[in-house]
Amino acid sequence: MLKVAKFGFYMFGINTYVVYDPKAKEAAIIDPGMSRKSEFEALEKFIEREGLKVTHLINTHLHIDHAISDLWVKQKYGIQIEAHGDDAPLGKYLTQQAQSFGIPGEYVAIEIDNKLKEGDVIKVGEGELKVLHVPGHSPGSICLYDKADGFVIVGDTLFEGSIGRSDLPGGNHRQLVDAIKNKLLTLPKDTAVYSGHGNPTTIGKEWDTNPYLV
Ligand SMILES: [Zn+2]
Ligand SMILES: [Zn+2]
Repeated sequence: MLKVAKFGFYMFGINTYVVYDPKAKEAAIIDPGMSRKSEFEALEKFIEREGLKVTHLINTHLHIDHAISDLWVKQKYGIQIEAHGDDAPLGKYLTQQAQSFGIPGEYVAIEIDNKLKEGDVIKVGEGELKVLHVPGHSPGSICLYDKADGFVIVGDTLFEGSIGRSDLPGGNHRQLVDAIKNKLLTLPKDTAVYSGHGNPTTIGKEWDTNPYLV
């Protein structure tokens, strides 16, 4: 059984998730968005307190808020960066992304070590996360679905009452709406949805009330 711990960090109100198997003591860090000392400490302390071995570092996509501390996690836990190959160009141009959002500084380009694709299964302890390719917010946006535990981590594809922006480079509104309908709204209605920003929701609630998906 996998559990989900959510950390809300300052930069763009990003949600970083630790998905972990409390019995096997293995964990995946998803979208590490730490930018302040206290944020690195909060994540580190949680991993230590739970006695977890971090075995995966996964990006739902490579916008800077979701990947800003990838290299720190990679080094600290000696693991690979995993993301969809279609977002590789975004990883190369982190500094330009930062500039376009008005964030100062130079950022080292991110290379994807392990390119994920639709249907891949990532093992975390005894649990499994299935990769769903849901493009349109970015070309390589993925969602991570745990069927056994009934949750999906959706990055910036779907939000409570909203959907991701499609005006950034590589975005496509029609493609995003179609992908959400085909890949996410087809999941069981009681599936918990954990978004890259904001509150958790469920597939059923978005099916019933999301104005972008009618
Ligand atoms: Zn994004
Ligand atoms: Zn975001």
